[in-house]
Amino acid sequence: MASTQQTVISSPRISRLREFVVAFGNLVETASGEPEILREGSRLLAELVGIDDWLPARYAESSVTGYQQYLLHADSRERFSVVSFVWGPGQKSPIHDHTVWGIVGILRGAEFEQSYARTSDGRFVEQGAPVRLEKGEVTAVSPTIGDFHRVSNALEDLPSISIHVYGANIGALKRSIYEPDGTSKTFISGYSNIEMPNLWDRSRDTSVV
Ligand code: FE
Repeated sequence: MASTQQTVISSPRISRLREFVVAFGNLVETASGEPEILREGSRLLAELVGIDDWLPARYAESSVTGYQQYLLHADSRERFSVVSFVWGPGQKSPIHDHTVWGIVGILRGAEFEQSYARTSDGRFVEQGAPVRLEKGEVTAVSPTIGDFHRVSNALEDLPSISIHVYGANIGALKRSIYEPDGTSKTFISGYSNIEMPNLWDRSRDTSVV
């Protein structure tokens, strides 16, 4: 229901994000390779986005200037990063790549994902129909399984929020956006926030929403 997606959470269970970060750190430490990270990481992310009570409100704010990407956590060795993407009504990304693996889970609302394939002469063609991802669903990208897509908010009147995990400090990577004709532009996305949520104050663990 649209009305529940707008619920303001005043006292988030940030411990859920800490537990996710700890589990994900263990996974990247022990995984045999990308397939295991995508498989087990998707399971962990599905758990995280399965309950919507932990994302602090300031990292859920949309902007009329464009979609927001808030860094929630960066691994100290930059093996992975966790980001909340907030899409205002009607907002969408250009066609873009990632250059590393990425796992995306829908926390609030819904998103359309259109995948693209690159032709031998460098153009981009739609690969299949757009997929509508609903709250709780998880998808993945990477140079090995398909790295080009465009994402948009599926809701016309409400923000949508997805939680992304990438195999690097994604906001610091040099990546590319593309026109369908293959024209490209490199970019480094950075992040929308300058402060990050405090995952580590364990005295707050007993706070209940
Ligand atoms: Fe993407």
